[in-house]
Amino acid sequence: MGVARTGPSTNHSRLTPLPRGTRATVTGREGDWLRLEYGAWINGAETRSLPGAVPPRARIRSVSGRPGPHGIEMAFPLTVPVPVTIAQEDERLILTLHGAIAETDTIRLDDDPLIRRLDWQQVNPHTLTYTFHLKTPHQWGYDFRYDGSTLRLLLRYPPELRGELNGLRVVLDPGHGGAELGARGPNGFPEKEINLILSRKLRRELEQRGAQVYLTRDQDVDLGLRERMDFIAEVKPHVALSVHYNALPDSGNAEETAGIGMFWYHPQAHDLAVFLQDYLVTSLDRPHYGVFWNNLALTRPHAAPTVLMELGFMINPWEFEWIMDEAAQDQLAGAIASALTQWVQSRQAVP
Ligand SMILES: [Zn+2]
Repeated sequence: MGVARTGPSTNHSRLTPLPRGTRATVTGREGDWLRLEYGAWINGAETRSLPGAVPPRARIRSVSGRPGPHGIEMAFPLTVPVPVTIAQEDERLILTLHGAIAETDTIRLDDDPLIRRLDWQQVNPHTLTYTFHLKTPHQWGYDFRYDGSTLRLLLRYPPELRGELNGLRVVLDPGHGGAELGARGPNGFPEKEINLILSRKLRRELEQRGAQVYLTRDQDVDLGLRERMDFIAEVKPHVALSVHYNALPDSGNAEETAGIGMFWYHPQAHDLAVFLQDYLVTSLDRPHYGVFWNNLALTRPHAAPTVLMELGFMINPWEFEWIMDEAAQDQLAGAIASALTQWVQSRQAVP
């Protein structure tokens, strides 16, 4: 995937990444950065220039959907692999193809557990959108890639629960590890250790309820952000949770900064972040640090709703005592598992 941004620097926000093989016309240049015809910027190092000055224009005729084990895979056979943007809204997912012209004749889409209807619109001579109207109020993840010049978009089905959490696959990602210690407690105790302790307790709680749980790391080892993201994309869980404890913000006071926080990025994860936050703060009577939209490596995965949890501040002496207390850890793991169970059970139902 290439990183598309709103402007020519890494300070500029990320847009939908461009799948490998995407072709686009360059309309501007600033330093190492290239402006693409649809307005996004990309670092030249992630690109390769092709001979010929003819702007790529894709045509597309028929679109079709094929149900698979993880969801429905939609095939968009384009004549050129053009840049794409994906946006999630309430009960809709919108795919935009930049530099594409519809010659649509058929859309093959049988009755599907997820998609109510697929509409298309030629917004202007070079922008084509496909709007998926969904049957479920909640979205369970998506993935996309170019297969030659055919765009394959996977829309994930909701989990089919049998019993409490039977049928649910969960990735737990204990933050940091190995040489990367993470935040430190007042006595120097490293965050990486408590992340793993809590993740193992949470795995046990979820497995007791019937879920299949996958840890990105089950030992004290180095593990890069890319590897963690790839792990989520491969396992295709129904939910992914990163487990962290917080470090003090620059202007923070160690004794006064406390509480639980949740971080989300894609709209499909917002509802889960809010639910977990409210449940934990209320049921455990912990301080509320906040719910944040944040563009983090471990909130960006889109194959499943993905939330990064910051469960307390390591450096706060009062909170650190709670963090290290084994009975409190068991309570916290139990509360996260109960929250996830309630959330999944209430969100998977098709109205
Ligand atoms: Zn951390």
